[in-house]
Amino acid sequence: MIDENHDSGEMFRRFERMSGSWNSDTICAGTRIDWQPVLAGLLEQIEIEPPLQEIVDKLSRGERLTKSDGLFLFDYDDLDAIGQIADAVKISRYGERAFFNHNVHVNQTNICVLSCKFCAFRRGRKASDAYAHDIDDFLEILRHYAPHVDEVHSVGGLHPDWDIEYYEKLFSAIKKEFPHLHIKALTAVEVKHISNISQLTVAETLRRLQHSGLGSLPGGGAEILNDSIRDIICKGKETSQEYLDIHRTAHAIGMPTNCTMLFGTIESAVHRVEHLLSLRGLQDQTAGFQCFVPYPYLPDSSRLPEAQLATGSEILRVIAISRILLDNIPHIKAYRMNLGDGISELALSFGADDIDGTVQQESIMHLAGSTAPLDHDREQLSRLIRDAGCIPVQRNSIYTLFSEYQTPVKKSWRLPMAR
Ligand code: SF4
Repeated sequence: MIDENHDSGEMFRRFERMSGSWNSDTICAGTRIDWQPVLAGLLEQIEIEPPLQEIVDKLSRGERLTKSDGLFLFDYDDLDAIGQIADAVKISRYGERAFFNHNVHVNQTNICVLSCKFCAFRRGRKASDAYAHDIDDFLEILRHYAPHVDEVHSVGGLHPDWDIEYYEKLFSAIKKEFPHLHIKALTAVEVKHISNISQLTVAETLRRLQHSGLGSLPGGGAEILNDSIRDIICKGKETSQEYLDIHRTAHAIGMPTNCTMLFGTIESAVHRVEHLLSLRGLQDQTAGFQCFVPYPYLPDSSRLPEAQLATGSEILRVIAISRILLDNIPHIKAYRMNLGDGISELALSFGADDIDGTVQQESIMHLAGSTAPLDHDREQLSRLIRDAGCIPVQRNSIYTLFSEYQTPVKKSWRLPMAR
């Protein structure tokens, strides 16, 4: 319900005056609680094209958008207009802030019993470049980065032999040596695989992993939540319902998760919208998703010649529509490792409020063709955010601690003038 006498401008300015560090809880994840009336005020200030008026009126009244609204937005020509609405939603939640974290990616193995058609990362066990880090290897890699980061992000293939004991030992060892690190690890299909070969339920698996140090799930593996599409692009993976149920189980034990969407393979706009609404439906029940991460299929070294691929403007459209439709998921991430710096910067004006982290090393997206730089430090990330016209805010993994990042003043590139 909107308070018509509400001075959204003043609220917005008050929000902007907040500075320094602030705390949140995992559910609101840093979103201002009065974002909906603020949004109504912001939408009043933008010029709306008549075909979009009905959607904007719904957003202003705090009404939920439908599947046909989503399809209309995918079909609507003027991407800038959609981007402006998504930007207003983002600003109503976070002002001009955009978030990043300080993390490192370590993929524990590329050996996988499946062979998803879009995957350039997996290897068969006998491949010359197959690898499987034992715990000492993994810790040795982490030692290079751990003093400077606060999160390790770890996903990998479905190793035929590794049951829950490998992961329990790994997570316990990480926590023992680096207690400050948050462990964000395992896609839904990895959780399913570990539970199958360990003959445990998903709930038992997640509880044991949580007990050994797993803090959150990164959300990978959703691809498109439609089983006919999954049968073609990732046969043998968890079903759409299993993806949702694994996340539901994680949320039930107090483990926050992200959720994702891989687009630009063989899906249609209908599949994308249904995917978003499935996630929104689960979030209504559990409130455990913190961030939605949509990313396009990258075609190098994979096996989907029929994929339609996504252009730059299609990527921005997906991000903007995600922001507009997902009224109950706090954050929308422009995953820089997949999108690259240029599109990620633009995405911050199309509804995204997060660009992920410093990462340091990454292979899943780079083997598929990503050219995103890997050596970004906090200063470079914060410059990217400032160049997009936003205020860089460093966050922790679960969006409960935030700190505005003071980007050091750039040294002048000019040569001293000859006298
Ligand atoms: S996407 Fe994951 S499950 Fe599928 S082949 Fe690649 S590593 Fe294996």
